[in-house]
Amino acid sequence: MNRPAPQSVMVIGAGFAGLAAALRLARAGVQVTVLDRLERPGGKAALGWPDFSSGPTVVTMPQVFRGLHQRLELPEPQLTPARPTTTYHYAGKLAGRTFAPEALAVAGNLDSTLAQLSRQDARRYARLLGLSHRMYRDAASTFIFAPPPSRAKLARYALTKGTRAFPWMSLSQLVRSGPLLTPFWLRFATYLGANPYKAPAVLHNIAWVELGLGVWHLGEGEQAGLGALAQTLAAEAEALGVRFEYGVTVKHLIRSGNRIMGAHTDQGAFSAQGWVSAVDRSLTASWLGHPPDPTPRGVSGFALQLRLDRDLGRSHHLFFPADYHQEWRDIASVQLPSDPALYLHLDGQRAFVLINTPPNPGVVPDPYAYGAALIAKLQARFAEKYRPLPITSWLPIDPALYALTAERGALYGQAPHGLIGSLRPGWHHHGARNLVQVGGTVHPGGGVPLSMLSGWNGAGQLIGLPYDDLGGQESGPL
Ligand SMILES: Cc1cc2nc3c(=O)[nH]c(=O)nc-3n(C[C@H](O)[C@H](O)[C@H](O)COP(=O)(O)OP(=O)(O)OC[C@H]3O[C@@H](n4cnc5c(N)ncnc54)[C@H](O)[C@@H]3O)c2cc1C
Repeated sequence: MNRPAPQSVMVIGAGFAGLAAALRLARAGVQVTVLDRLERPGGKAALGWPDFSSGPTVVTMPQVFRGLHQRLELPEPQLTPARPTTTYHYAGKLAGRTFAPEALAVAGNLDSTLAQLSRQDARRYARLLGLSHRMYRDAASTFIFAPPPSRAKLARYALTKGTRAFPWMSLSQLVRSGPLLTPFWLRFATYLGANPYKAPAVLHNIAWVELGLGVWHLGEGEQAGLGALAQTLAAEAEALGVRFEYGVTVKHLIRSGNRIMGAHTDQGAFSAQGWVSAVDRSLTASWLGHPPDPTPRGVSGFALQLRLDRDLGRSHHLFFPADYHQEWRDIASVQLPSDPALYLHLDGQRAFVLINTPPNPGVVPDPYAYGAALIAKLQARFAEKYRPLPITSWLPIDPALYALTAERGALYGQAPHGLIGSLRPGWHHHGARNLVQVGGTVHPGGGVPLSMLSGWNGAGQLIGLPYDDLGGQESGPL
């Protein structure tokens, strides 16, 4: 016999997944409390200085952001396309070379992108973009804009489209295309926390999200960025009656039979009829007493928030090292890369720098010393093409800080290595029938739009609402 839907739900985690879950539940009339160990909403976006995002900078799948705003009857979000998506700067034998592709949906055609490439590279680019488009289209209705796939659905995908995802190939075999383009295509796998040299070919579909559908800036001025979006969503939830309890760390879940009755926290016990866990999946599993997940963790990160004394506009840059493969050999041997790729996001008088690190909270013993060394490296690379960045102050965010929101600081949970590793876990834990697991470590995957989709729909499932792709399948030129 089906139990009635819970009247009261505790959401653990006020990141984008927890916020989306709380909003869907509150709109359905459920009494919702959100617990979070941090002091403000946003999860990975909420560390460090409060007027910056400390994690996500780039908006992809803009239709999901529009869809969520529509469902919540909020004004349409202000989304401006990034042109180019990113400027890639090369080193070593290609020192001084840049490549600045435009997204197909934004530019309307590939002319400006292909004009920057030799005839051979232009052919390779068009072929690999076409391949990523087909792989994305094939994956969308099973792995992205749908509930976690059943075995039957997986089998149907494998029979009808499986071979088109090159299941026998690694990503590095699939995208081998010369010194300029190979690292460029490989890097998209890091968006799911993968070491690109261990990723399966199927992750090539991620490239279409950026190069086909585009990269977008959100909001303007003080209200710009994903940190501000988290505040807007939390304010909307509060207006709908959601109660937020910040500074509360959950330690353990209290179970009776197959049901969760309460949570022990450092601020006492909380009880509810239904539960949404929007924290790292492996953390929830440990609260339930399940054995530790043996799957390797994906990458962590070391970031810098920089204040600038001039407005440098909005753009994204990626500075490749001379040897991209060596960076990933270092990370695989649990060391800080000696010469990492540097990602730089400029947003007016704010800048954000990120490098990939191994998932080890102790890997940066002195974040300020390491941060200073990275800034010196960045300034040297930036000044090759522009003037040095006018930095007035800066703050490091190291893997130990990211470990507050993610087990061992692994930003996307399990590493998507190999075909099985790239399948995201579903929304349930064994022995916890009134709990759903949502967020960037489970289906459909990491990144803000996918985390919001899982929060919105995992919570929907808990109270018997139908799946809602938030307009995700209406994604422009599919
Ligand atoms: C540096 C960086 C750059 C990124 N760039 C992008 C990007 O450009 N675009 C993009 O779309 N995505 C990006 N991402 C990924 C994106 O930020 C995440 O996938 C997404 O924010 C995950 O949201 P979430 O709600 O699932 O998890 P989280 O944001 O991790 O939220 C989990 C929440 O649970 C809370 N919590 C954890 N443990 C406990 C506990 N014991 N008790 C109580 N509360 C607890 C945490 O405090 C946190 O608030 C980036 C991430 C990082 C770190």
